[in-house]
Amino acid sequence: MYCKFCGKEIEDDSMKCVYCGSLQREQSAGREAVGTFLKILILAIVAVPIGIILFVLLVLGKMWSAGF
Ligand SMILES: [Zn+2]
Repeated sequence: MYCKFCGKEIEDDSMKCVYCGSLQREQSAGREAVGTFLKILILAIVAVPIGIILFVLLVLGKMWSAGF
């Protein structure tokens, strides 16, 4: 990978740049946190309507089976 600050090539798993000494992990860790947050948000947005639909189907099924 390349240093985010000076642009020189450094080892992929290195914590900081050997040329300018800048930490490499902070930004990627922040992006990972944002990615995780977005995944949870999308999951919640998808899961809530599915939960409501399943609940309605369950209630309707019970009403039908009760001869309604
Ligand atoms: Zn650098």
